[in-house]
Amino acid sequence: MQTHSLQDLHDRFAPSDRLPVVFLGHGSPMNVIEDNDYNRAWSELGRSLPRPKAILVVSAHWMTRGTTLIDVSAMPRTIHDFHGFPEALYAQEYPASGQPELAREVVTLLKSHRAQEDESWGLDHGAWAVLKFLYPEADVPVFQVSIDLGRGLDHQIAIGRTLSELRNRGVLILGSGNVVHNLRAMRPGGKPHDFALEFDALFADRLADRDFAALADSQGLGPLLSAAHPTVDHYLPALTIAGASDARDDLTFMTDSIDLGSVSMRSFIFHTN
Ligand code: ZN
Repeated sequence: MQTHSLQDLHDRFAPSDRLPVVFLGHGSPMNVIEDNDYNRAWSELGRSLPRPKAILVVSAHWMTRGTTLIDVSAMPRTIHDFHGFPEALYAQEYPASGQPELAREVVTLLKSHRAQEDESWGLDHGAWAVLKFLYPEADVPVFQVSIDLGRGLDHQIAIGRTLSELRNRGVLILGSGNVVHNLRAMRPGGKPHDFALEFDALFADRLADRDFAALADSQGLGPLLSAAHPTVDHYLPALTIAGASDARDDLTFMTDSIDLGSVSMRSFIFHTN
């Protein structure tokens, strides 16, 4: 068994250049086994990002109510949390190690947000479907933080703001969801719905203006928000990443298209200039 001195731990998470924060639209699990523009962009992004010491993932697929859970396990399991897909998808594994020491620090950091340790989750497909392309060797420690569906949209922005200090310590904060996600309105091969185009464009504009309050204003967004997100699970990770940005960051968009008529694949990166 490997042991670490306190100095080792300090060196592993010593302050370094401020890392970017990244939101990826993950879309269908089929993006893992198809060769397409989305996963090619994820691979390219992985090659261009600075190598992090650890990755903290906020995925749409780990939903909690009234608490924020942080996975502190040493070896998070790969969760195949989807149904009716080809066998090749269930055979996928992402064998990265966890980062229990750092994960426990995050529990402390988020204490005022009702954070608690967890060892039952692992890596759901919101996390590993994109990590497989970003870091195909699975050689960077990774752990997930849940989204709290029991709180308002602005809560997730506050979580991102609190997490942002980890950017100085070599931690890559990665959100995985979709800027528009309405599975009931899916039309494979069909044209994008107007509501999908409209919400996606509005999101991009407000994000570029750093008007995060508008993005978290459920009443102001009104029926357009309900059309784009019948449930907000895939929206919340985008707000976490907005919250983790700095006013001085540059913003870069990638893969800004609507898939399946009602799923925005828009991704974005906030990075220091
Ligand atoms: Zn999803």
